[in-house]
Amino acid sequence: MSKHPEPRVAIPTYGRDLLRGLPPELLRRPIVLTQPEPWALVSAGFPADRTRLHRVETMEQAVVDGVTAGLGDGSAVFGIGGGSALDHAKYVAWKRGLPLVLVPTILSVDAAYTKAIGVREGGRVRYVGAVYPDHLLIDYGLLQAADPILNRAGVGDILSIFTAIWDWREAGARLGEPYDAGVAAESRALLDRLFEGAAGIGCCSDAGLHLLSELYVGEVRLCELVGNARPEEGSEHYVAYCLEHRTGRHYLHGALVGMGVLLAGAYQGQDVGPVKRFLSDVRLDSSYRAVGTTADEVRSCLLGMGDYVAHESQLLPGVFHFRGGISAADAGAVMAAADLGE
Ligand SMILES: [Zn+2]
Repeated sequence: MSKHPEPRVAIPTYGRDLLRGLPPELLRRPIVLTQPEPWALVSAGFPADRTRLHRVETMEQAVVDGVTAGLGDGSAVFGIGGGSALDHAKYVAWKRGLPLVLVPTILSVDAAYTKAIGVREGGRVRYVGAVYPDHLLIDYGLLQAADPILNRAGVGDILSIFTAIWDWREAGARLGEPYDAGVAAESRALLDRLFEGAAGIGCCSDAGLHLLSELYVGEVRLCELVGNARPEEGSEHYVAYCLEHRTGRHYLHGALVGMGVLLAGAYQGQDVGPVKRFLSDVRLDSSYRAVGTTADEVRSCLLGMGDYVAHESQLLPGVFHFRGGISAADAGAVMAAADLGE
């Protein structure tokens, strides 16, 4: 028996041509937030004369507020596309109190499964609001039309459990932080299912996409249960954030987090062999080259981790906090263990 109340989660519908199965009244006067490629795949299903369409280019707060205010009345809000299209649709539905239909066309991020809405203010992401979709459509045909790497990259935020729960348990032992061994075990079970499903996710089969979606549902539920991201996020993300901060570049999140799991996991003293095998099986290349960085950049990022986590005070303590950063010798050993290229 969990001591936590059971949280509400989004419940996906799985299949093909799912938009056609929606109640017709939702399509009476639809508001659609989307992007050009996904819209081309679904536009035939919407009434051309009664659809209000916005192509999402940014989640910058001022722009999002302007667009939201300018949209007229509607029967339902549809978010169709990647993370920005879904977040914008969530924002409109939240502000206007309209029914919400989410149709992710890539599974690279968890925006379809979380209640919070990510908006940007001067480049920094802030989470606002709380909204659940009335319909969350996981349409295999639409997902399989995307570049497979954009679905495979979705494994990053499940794979991060590997290093996140190590940090969490250590924070409990060292700092007396509330650590829930039952939730950690449930989270670990999600990671085991991910490892077992590598082949299906790698080829974006119906079963692989179904699994990835269910793992998101499970992980978001666990984070809701404990009220923070401990079951999912830790030092692997801090390495990723630090590299983004230092280089100012954007990366494919899942590949970057995969790299972070290998580096942080090795520094934690874990055997990262199973993570390496998984990344190979799922065909998500997390080498420095594939991520879009270099060994030199990663080395200086690691050496700066002590300062980085000291300044970013919102980050819950992890291995770089516990050890006050990393020595040059340890950074070399960690990079050798991760084995991500020259
Ligand atoms: Zn992430």
